[in-house]
Amino acid sequence: MTLSGRNAVVTGAGSGLGRATAIVLAAKGAAVAVWDVNADGARETVATIQEAGGKAVAVTADVADAGSVTAAAARTHAGLGPVTVLVNNAGITNYAPFTDLSQEVWNRMLQVNLTGPFLVTQAFVGDMLEAGWGRIVNISSSSAQTGAPSMAHYAASKGGVIGFTKALAIEYAAKGITVNNVPPGFVDTPLLRQGFDPDQVAPSMPMKRAGQPEDIAHAVAYLASDEAGYVTGQTLSVNGGRYLA
Ligand code: NAD
Repeated sequence: MTLSGRNAVVTGAGSGLGRATAIVLAAKGAAVAVWDVNADGARETVATIQEAGGKAVAVTADVADAGSVTAAAARTHAGLGPVTVLVNNAGITNYAPFTDLSQEVWNRMLQVNLTGPFLVTQAFVGDMLEAGWGRIVNISSSSAQTGAPSMAHYAASKGGVIGFTKALAIEYAAKGITVNNVPPGFVDTPLLRQGFDPDQVAPSMPMKRAGQPEDIAHAVAYLASDEAGYVTGQTLSVNGGRYLA
């Protein structure tokens, strides 16, 4: 399985799952634009890829801001050329009992986790239509499959990502563009550690361990490959058996 000759964008690639995904895509031959609102994180990911002999560029971008996305897409096109692999991974989380959930917090969650993928996908789907080939992988969440207390806003945003995935998959099925989503469950990253201790979660998992970022990255790389060309609109749950879709 090779991604040689493909140009990819991974959002939120300055940390966690996005970083691992950018590294795996680059190791398989893709040139990767490492997008993150955290410029230092993006640069560290790029340095890791380049040290391993891969090609990557760091792009500072806030996926929740239309102007920032437009500027970042222009920098990406200037640095790499047309993009035909897009991983919408950037996301935030926080926890609030439903009655404490302010509209401001609700809106911000949807803005980053759902409007972000909308804006970034609009910025690159034209490249894919022109190429007659494209791969869009959206990172959703097992919390949208199972529900989760104090996460109504997060689960709603990720449920939206799953619906967005299915709608685009049908819209572009005849155009050579596949659109799938990966809902991780309990993967050891800084985001997970905001709410959970991975060691405490492990005993409740069928595989008796939290996930590692690479577990997600390899699933994304498969969905980005030629070999996954007949797979679209799907939810590929990578969760150690936590939830069986
Ligand atoms: P992380 O916090 O390690 O990484 C997220 C990255 O996204 C950070 O580098 C952050 O700077 C970036 N980011 C945040 N807001 C952004 C914005 N507006 N624009 C651009 N970049 C932004 O978290 P992670 O665990 O690697 O999460 C990655 C994705 O996986 C998220 O969408 C998250 O919701 C999802 N997810 C993670 C888990 C898990 O167990 N870790 C479970 C389910 C879903």
